[in-house]
Parts: sequence; C-alpha cells; structure tokens
Amino acid sequence: MSSEQSLNSYRGKRDFSRSPEPKGSDPEARSGAHRFVIQKHKASTLHYDFRIELDGVLKSWAVPKGPSTNPADKRLAIATEDHPLEYIDFEGTIPETEYGGGTVLVWDRGTYENLKGEPLQNALDRGQVEIWLHGQKLKGGYALVRTDKRWLLIKMKDDQADARRKPVSTEPRSVKSGRTIEEIAEEDGGE
Ligand code: MN
Repeated sequence: MSSEQSLNSYRGKRDFSRSPEPKGSDPEARSGAHRFVIQKHKASTLHYDFRIELDGVLKSWAVPKGPSTNPADKRLAIATEDHPLEYIDFEGTIPETEYGGGTVLVWDRGTYENLKGEPLQNALDRGQVEIWLHGQKLKGGYALVRTDKRWLLIKMKDDQADARRKPVSTEPRSVKSGRTIEEIAEEDGGE
C-alpha cells in the first residue's frame, strides 16, 4: 500500500478546514530517517500516541498509561490509523467538536533503530517489534508485541531500564516547547 492510500483513514476522520492538524501532502516531509514521536493527547481520555516513521507514514498506537521505563510494566497500546509524517511536529489544540478534539503535546521525540534482523514491516506484520529509542526522555530497547488483537509496549531489559523513574508523571513537559499540557491549552485553546 502506498503512503497516500494508507492515509485515507486519517484524512477521512478529519475536517482540515476546522482542525489545525496537518493533511499530510508534502513529499518533502519524507526524510528517509527513522524518527519517532510520543504525543501526550488530552482528548476525551488522556493517552500517549506513540508513532514511528516507516515507509513515508507514522505507524501509530495510543497508549492509555503512556510508556514506562520499568520492564515489569506491560502497557496496553491500541493500534490507530497511520498518520502523515508532518504530524511528528504537531503540538496544539484540536477544536472540541472535531475528531480527537483536545490538546496535543510533543512529549518525546528522536530516532530509533530496528533491533530485529528483518525489515521492520515484517516485524510489524508478525506483531514482534523490537526497537532502540534515541529520544530525549526515552532511551534503550522497547518491544511492541501483539497478542490476539492487543499490542503491548514493554521496556526491554538493558542499562536504560529504570523501575523508579516514571517519566510520564515526573517529566510532563513538551520537548518541543517546554510547556505543560495546561499551558498549551491556555495559549492555543482560545477561540
Ligand atoms: Mn490521540
């Protein structure tokens, strides 16, 4: 499937005349790099959107509790529609009346390496992904494992594992703007 086709679901859910989110049409956005982003999204329910760049789109999961640095934690990750690459920098407020309405904060970003000896798309298809994150907050190995219809996001055991750090609660600010989600909502949310 081309990246244009795989964005049909994303575009079909959104009215770009009302939402500030990117439509995703810029071929220059394709970097060939392996980037990731985690966006804290205060919508009807708070969650963290984990997105990794692959073949011109952002493969995406919604993680209700956010990522952990403790290998004992298995965090539910709900697969969501592919997002355009331009979304990697998106921070701001989506109108309440629109799909995903609420505030988005760039909680972490950086690059990743595929730790498996096979193409990442194959690992995704098999539901057995292992990647090494070079983020500003998250570093080290993370596994995304599919069991039945559910994915789990799990910190792998390595020297970056830390059961006590709890970055979701102790490091709440945007790595893009330094703001908290409340500050973004105040500054960008005014009608
Ligand atoms: Mn979301």
